[in-house]
Amino acid sequence: NRTPLIAGNWKMNLDHLQAIAFVQKLAWSLKDAGHNFADVEAAIFPPFTDLRSVQTLVSADKLELAYGAQDVSQHASGAYTGEISGSFLKQLDCRYVIIGHSERRTLHAETDEIVAAKTAAAIANGIVPIICVGETADDLENHGPSAVPVAQLTAALSSVQSASDIVVAYEPVWAIGSGQAATPEQAEAVCAALRGVLESALGSDVAAKTRILYGGSVKSTNIGGFMKQPNVDGALVGGASLDLAEFASIIRYQK
Ligand code: 13P
Repeated sequence: NRTPLIAGNWKMNLDHLQAIAFVQKLAWSLKDAGHNFADVEAAIFPPFTDLRSVQTLVSADKLELAYGAQDVSQHASGAYTGEISGSFLKQLDCRYVIIGHSERRTLHAETDEIVAAKTAAAIANGIVPIICVGETADDLENHGPSAVPVAQLTAALSSVQSASDIVVAYEPVWAIGSGQAATPEQAEAVCAALRGVLESALGSDVAAKTRILYGGSVKSTNIGGFMKQPNVDGALVGGASLDLAEFASIIRYQK
C-alpha cells in the first residue's frame, strides 16, 4: 500500500518571495478543496535559496505540504565551492531531495557514480532520495524503452542498504518539457521493470513499498491515466507545477 506522491520540481523558477506567495495559495486551495494529505502526499522542490523561507512558512502555518531540494552534494563539508550538503538540507527539514535529474546528468555531467554517491549522502542525512532515471530519444531507438533506466537505477542502488526509504522517478528525457508525455502503458512497462530492479537489489518487501513516479509533460488532463497503472505511484511534475490551479488539480486527480 503505497501513498501516492505528487512532486513539483520548480527547477530554476520562483525566488523566495514568489515561493512564499505560491506555497500559501497552494496550501489554501488544497485546504478549501478538502485535500487529505494522507491519501495523496504533495511536495514541492524550490531552488535552494527558497528553502529557508518555505521551512519558516510551513512550520509557522503547520502545513502538511512536504518540500525538498533539487540536488545535494555527495560530500559532507569542505572545499566544494557552490555545493550544498545533506546536513544543511536536513537542518531545513527537507523530507526529500531530487537526485540525478536528467538536467543534472546532461548539463552538469553527473555520472551514475556521482548519482550513487549523492543517494548515499541523502540517506546518511535522513533525507529520502528521489532517484531520477530515464532514457533519451536515441536510447529509446537504440536500446528499447527500459535498458537505460534499468541500468541507471541498478547503479544508483549500489550504495543503498535494503532498509532505506527511497523514491524512484522515471522520466523519459524525450518527454521532459516537450508536451509529449509517455503513454500510461509506456510508463507502466518501464516502472514495472524498475520495480524488478528494486526487488533484485533490495528484496521484495522494499520493492513492494517503494514509490515509483512518472515524470515528463504531466498535466491535469493526463495524470489520471498514469495513476491508474499498478506500478506508477505518483508524478514528478515540472512546468505544470508552476501553475497553481493546474498543480492543485494534478494533486487532486480523479481516482
Ligand atoms: P515537465 O513536467 O515540464 O515535462 O518536466 C518534468 C521534469 O523534468 C520534472 O522533474
